[in-house]
Amino acid sequence: DLRYRLLAENVIDVIAAGDNGGRVTWISPSVATVLGWRPEQLVGSLWADLVHPDDRERLREVQDGLLHGKSARLEARVRRTSGEHLWMNIRVKPVLDDNGAVVARIAGMWDAENEHQAGEALARTEARYGAALSAKRDPHVFLDAVRGDDGTIVDFVYADANAAALSWLGRTLEELQERSLLTAFPGHRASGMFDAYVRTVETGEQLVEDERRLRSEILGTDAWFDFRGIQVLDGLSLSWRDVTTKVKTRNEIAEADERHRLLAENASDVVFRVFADGTVDWVVGSVAELLGRNDDDIRGHSALDLFVAEDLGDLEGTGVRLRHGETVVDTVRVMRPDGTHRWVSRRMRAVMADDGEHAAWYVLAISDAQAQVENQRALEESERQAQDLAQRYARARNEALDASREKTVFLSRMSHELRTPLNAILGFAQLLAMDELTVDQADAVHQIRTGGRHLLELISEVLDISRIESGRLSLSMESVAVADAVNEALDLVRPLADAAGVRVGRVDGAACVAQVWADRQRVIQVLLNLLSNGAKYNHRGGTVEVFCEPLPGELLAIRVRDSGPGLSADQIGHIFEPFDRLGAERTDIEGTGIGLTLSEALARLRSGRLEVSSEPGVGSVFSLVLPSSALRTGDIGVDEVEEVTPTLGGTAHVLYVEDNPANTHLMERIAGLRPGVRLTLAPNGALGLDAAMRDTPDLVLLDLHLPDMRGETVLSRLREMPGMHGVRIVVVTADASAGLAQRLTGLGADAVLTKPIDVGEVLGWFDRTIGGSGS
Ligand code: ADP
Repeated sequence: DLRYRLLAENVIDVIAAGDNGGRVTWISPSVATVLGWRPEQLVGSLWADLVHPDDRERLREVQDGLLHGKSARLEARVRRTSGEHLWMNIRVKPVLDDNGAVVARIAGMWDAENEHQAGEALARTEARYGAALSAKRDPHVFLDAVRGDDGTIVDFVYADANAAALSWLGRTLEELQERSLLTAFPGHRASGMFDAYVRTVETGEQLVEDERRLRSEILGTDAWFDFRGIQVLDGLSLSWRDVTTKVKTRNEIAEADERHRLLAENASDVVFRVFADGTVDWVVGSVAELLGRNDDDIRGHSALDLFVAEDLGDLEGTGVRLRHGETVVDTVRVMRPDGTHRWVSRRMRAVMADDGEHAAWYVLAISDAQAQVENQRALEESERQAQDLAQRYARARNEALDASREKTVFLSRMSHELRTPLNAILGFAQLLAMDELTVDQADAVHQIRTGGRHLLELISEVLDISRIESGRLSLSMESVAVADAVNEALDLVRPLADAAGVRVGRVDGAACVAQVWADRQRVIQVLLNLLSNGAKYNHRGGTVEVFCEPLPGELLAIRVRDSGPGLSADQIGHIFEPFDRLGAERTDIEGTGIGLTLSEALARLRSGRLEVSSEPGVGSVFSLVLPSSALRTGDIGVDEVEEVTPTLGGTAHVLYVEDNPANTHLMERIAGLRPGVRLTLAPNGALGLDAAMRDTPDLVLLDLHLPDMRGETVLSRLREMPGMHGVRIVVVTADASAGLAQRLTGLGADAVLTKPIDVGEVLGWFDRTIGGSGS
């Protein structure tokens, strides 16, 4: 048969025939080329002897099958003449007779060496691949495409799956194989994953889907997956990984970062991260506002350089505390590039290195504390003032209570008790004097009367002092024309001076053409005391002169200068002590040693003072210093002075521009001491100007440190207001340098008072204003 021959020679390497006994009956000549045997060498030999011993078992199975009419395929090693074996593919078919009995068999054989080796390689690859796939932790499946009539992919079926995929899908391989993807997971269509699979198969492009958010049909919740797929044959190899935790964590971190960023950018704080060596790693927050710098000026520089060195204190100690895990909080100043300082509150914390001993870096947060520090300072200052004042009150009160109460009660009772018998003594002495008396008797009566009058004077002075000390001395305050008071006192002292041979008088000059705010009678009383001392403690032909001198702060000194013996510094130290006559008790000069004590107390009582200066052998000057009540002493003549004497208990509108509540409270208390004062408070410059505009004050007390505008500005504006030209403006400030005082005076201030304010000084201004309110 030609067809068999062509087949045998061109396609199949060897063709053979055999009998039922397993022997070769015929074999094609090509066997020589393939195996080296000549055909006649093989005819009659057993097939079993020709194949490799390891393959004989399989051969026998095939031969058994042939006996039952079954065709078979077999791969077996066939021996060559060289003794080697060659892998051959053998196909055998039975040959049947007309009755269907097996009579012979025919075999086609061809060289399968290459095929066999490729098969082995494939098996190895498959073994390795299978191992790799099953070892893979990510689920991995093979899907085969299911195509419709028009050739388009309509579904996939599972072809294979690794262990991870099976456990993920909850199926065994048998359950899964050949199952429809879309039936098992219909959601694949809606999510677009099905289309992605189709695209991969149709285009051969790799499928990469990272962080696909899907509603997991297995988990029943939203989850994130990474998918990887490649086209394999008419299907795809697909693996996936659940990255939900990773995505969620990352989103949370991003959210937290965003929150921190917002916080950092919007907080008024500045936060630094500082390396262990003190250089700044990064800085966030309101850097420009607080530090006056930008981030780049700070990053990489030493954090310490930002602060005022002297505020930082014990750096080493702070380092130790930080490394012990303490959060260190302090208040320090930052240095801004423009040279200004700003108070900030600072929080520091160390983040420790793994060794637990060294700081890996520091976190430093600062926030503005300028206003806080200023308020604290102001509070402390006003507290100090309030305390100071309270102490002074308490001291004065205790002194008055302890020292004076008993003494005063005793003295006033004594004086009263003494007066009654003194009345009798003086009365009867006068009666006696009317009788006819001898010279000796008359002298005795004179002595009694002189002694009696002296005693009466003493008693009334003692009473005055006790009244002053107990605060019960009532004064009639008024604007007193100095010239008048001086003249009156001079008139009163003249008889005594004449008797002593001393000339008394007033030095002419404009200075005494002024007014003081005082109790007229008491002024005369003090002047009389000074003048009579000047006359008493003098020599015949000596002089006593009165002259006046204006002093800074609207004060006026009325000075009494004598040509007496003068006083030593030691004597001056004791001169105001009651009953101390400094040795005059050993002379025959009359006196009690209490006149100057009383005069000094009277002067002080009305915001004035009594001063002494003396040069032994030349004379003494005693000065009564009192607040002047006229604004410009030089402008007022003597005649006018007399006309402007105001009514007793005048009123004054005082405007106090001050923001500190403690200070305003103090001022209210001081104003409370003067019923005539009506106090208006303004907490800032603008309100102060408003208040002055609405109700023109008689006196303005102006704090320089105001929250809204500079005190100097307020001062100039006040001066420019209509009706404010002649109003007194007194500036109250904590730092009165000479330069500042001069500048303020130039702007129109009448005076500058320094804090802590002196109550007496303020009262002086009130009194002068009350006295001068009519002028
Ligand atoms: P007296 O009643 O003794 O005058 P004063 O209190 O007025 O009491 O004065 C106290 C003492 O001061 C006097 O005793 C005298 O020694 C001294 N003294 C007062 N004024 C003068 C003066 N102008 N010159 C010298 N000594 C004076």
